[in-house]
Amino acid sequence: MPAMTMTEKILARAAGKSSVTPGENVWVNVDVLMTHDVCGPGTFGVFKKEFGPQAKVWDPEKVVIIPDHYIFTKDAMANRNVDILRAFAKEQNIKYFYDVGTEKYKGVCHIALPEEGHTRPGEVLLGTDSHTCTAGAFGEFATGIGNTDAGFVLGTGKLWLKVPPTMRFIFHGQLPPYLMAKDLILAVIGDIGVDGATYRAMEFDGDGVFALNIEERMTLCNMAIEAGGKNGIIAADQVTLDYVNQRNAGNKPYTVVTTDPGAKFIFEKVYDVTKLEPVIAKPHSPDNKAFVSEVKGTKLDRAYIGSCTGGKLTDFKAAAELLRGKSVKIDTFVVPATTEVARGLDTEKIGGQTLREIFLAAGAKIGDASCAACLGGPSDTFGRLNAPISCISTTNRNFPGRMGHKEAKVYLASPLTVAASALAGSIADCRELLV
Ligand code: SF4
Repeated sequence: MPAMTMTEKILARAAGKSSVTPGENVWVNVDVLMTHDVCGPGTFGVFKKEFGPQAKVWDPEKVVIIPDHYIFTKDAMANRNVDILRAFAKEQNIKYFYDVGTEKYKGVCHIALPEEGHTRPGEVLLGTDSHTCTAGAFGEFATGIGNTDAGFVLGTGKLWLKVPPTMRFIFHGQLPPYLMAKDLILAVIGDIGVDGATYRAMEFDGDGVFALNIEERMTLCNMAIEAGGKNGIIAADQVTLDYVNQRNAGNKPYTVVTTDPGAKFIFEKVYDVTKLEPVIAKPHSPDNKAFVSEVKGTKLDRAYIGSCTGGKLTDFKAAAELLRGKSVKIDTFVVPATTEVARGLDTEKIGGQTLREIFLAAGAKIGDASCAACLGGPSDTFGRLNAPISCISTTNRNFPGRMGHKEAKVYLASPLTVAASALAGSIADCRELLV
């Protein structure tokens, strides 16, 4: 059998084949299909049109429905989308539906999926959202698909997929305290461009990666799509297994898959993380890279800490370390990705204060768990940029209009850089606060 990368081995297994090669098209069996309030209604429409009004999904326990995008709004169309999810979940007897206004409500899908035990090594997870690649942090093949493909998966549990070639990014060394996974992935995207990994797997490897906690690994994989990647992936280790085994929904068996020695990579780049500086992506593209030291002092109007990329407990702990005992100079919005993260704001303490107390004392506003302003949303969305202002954000995209106003400027950075900048009112280097 030829040596294969992790991505190839997972797709071979899912296709029932002993091996696959990059470029080959295969039918894969899907382990989990996720959809949310933005794409769910369209997906269900395709499913009903193609399979009939009485059709049933292929497996109601493999479909996960997570309303998260436009949740806390008066917008009638957004509310209608959630109603459509409710009706479909009821009609199809969907077990894993995390409805708004119930105890099951979670928030952002890509963080909710692992928290609720829907991510497992070796599996194929598809979702109607481009950042589905986040789950590659669990050693699985995870990618975003369109509503048409998702409608087909609902009916059959299968998808026709082309096997991507794999690029490998190796991080060596111990991450300095002023750097986070966000800096690493912004460095990669800046180096290869927003199309640098188009339809390729991005495998992250090296001791610098395996020293990261699971949330930071999720940040790395989350932004694979920002380089055009088909998927991001990190081999499962004990850290992964400890997390997965505590949560595994339905206690499903799974198989850990690793890259074979001698597997072929289409590209390889090695980083020494000890030599990196804090990185930022300037408006209006995630690959518009600069070191923070090069843009320090740039005036800002707002800071935003949230989303599937930068709204996890690790992100808030890092930001709170800098904000503790100080006051922000600009409007600062804090949005936990999920209700579990939100609870962590009340239980996690630094110096005797909870994270929530630290943020509120610093003058930040805290929203409810959801995507909130990461994708703009209706005008009453918490933290939305409703004017042409400048915002520094822990989110993953800064295209024109992404967070609301088309002329707003969004700078992407780590939670440490965003917190330091909130205190300064301009882009600031967190290293000056950490030493
Ligand atoms: S937080 Fe932002 S990037 Fe993540 S799923 Fe929501 S809108 Fe998309």
